[in-house]
Amino acid sequence: MRRARDVGAENEEPGLVERGLGLFLDHRRVANVGRRTGFAGFPCVLPPAMHDATTMPELPEVETVRRGLQPVMEGARITKVEARRGDLRQPLPKDFVKRIEGRVVTGVGRRAKYLLADLSSGDVLMMHLGMSGSFRVAKDDAEKIPGEFHHPRSQARAHDHVVFHMSSGVRVIFNDPRRFGLMLLVSRPDLDAHPLMKEVGPEPLGNAFDAAMLAAACKGKKTSLKAALSDQKVVAGLGNIYVCEALHRARLSPKRMASTIATRSGAPNERAERLVDAIKIVLQDAIKAGGSSLRDHRRTDGELGDFQHHFRVYDREGRRCVTPGCGGTVKRIVQVGRSTYFCPVCQK
Ligand SMILES: [Zn+2]
Repeated sequence: MRRARDVGAENEEPGLVERGLGLFLDHRRVANVGRRTGFAGFPCVLPPAMHDATTMPELPEVETVRRGLQPVMEGARITKVEARRGDLRQPLPKDFVKRIEGRVVTGVGRRAKYLLADLSSGDVLMMHLGMSGSFRVAKDDAEKIPGEFHHPRSQARAHDHVVFHMSSGVRVIFNDPRRFGLMLLVSRPDLDAHPLMKEVGPEPLGNAFDAAMLAAACKGKKTSLKAALSDQKVVAGLGNIYVCEALHRARLSPKRMASTIATRSGAPNERAERLVDAIKIVLQDAIKAGGSSLRDHRRTDGELGDFQHHFRVYDREGRRCVTPGCGGTVKRIVQVGRSTYFCPVCQK
């Protein structure tokens, strides 16, 4: 049923049930865990506690949410749906409850920043977190949020808009204060042609995404590398934070012309190789951080915990570049309406 290019078949993370559900994440305790658990590629430097109100969940966060939902939803029946508000970014589909209740979730995948729950009816429940959306997994009185990262999430009950009661014994609760999230039902064969899907480029962690593919997409592009990597048609769901981080890791300036990672014929040069490696490493490290943080919760056995990303450049304006021997200072500029953080010394 699932297309090969969806993500989700390979879930090596242990499930939430095995991890225990008597735990949840609390962003107020971010700093402690952050200092304790730095991870490969991200030095243990906490960003200033100033968060752009418009930041939204990015690919690693969505993938972490997927890995949190998969063990409690996949193979389970949705016994009851509470749609407490019919209007998210768009109204919930007509017959939303009727089309979902009683169906078995046959897979929980992801495409770009969309979570895709395949239902036994042949429908796919397409879910997007929007700007402020999050899921909680609840069992009795215990709750857990799969995926926090850089963005604190609301747990205010007034914003619990959709609740799925699962035969696995848990409730999956969608909370979204700003209601930019999205829930749609699309028949599986129509998914690729759906207006939200049809122009989405390759998955950055997929095998098909390599230097040749990126170079071909950037060939002749007169826009900046930052703009090219932010374009969903070039690569799916990378998001502002990870574009900044990947460019720093690849030592490429965000202002560099996108076409310069390809030869005139569109073949990849060494910059394209470096950039693709950096994109994959940055995303994998971020997802791993989510996973290791979830494991931390089990170890602390009930104690509140949480995690925060540790960025090389993002949100670090005016601070020392972390590239060994660089000595540069992280600068912030605005490109395509979004903040770009980079080091003008080592990113060329
Ligand atoms: Zn530097």
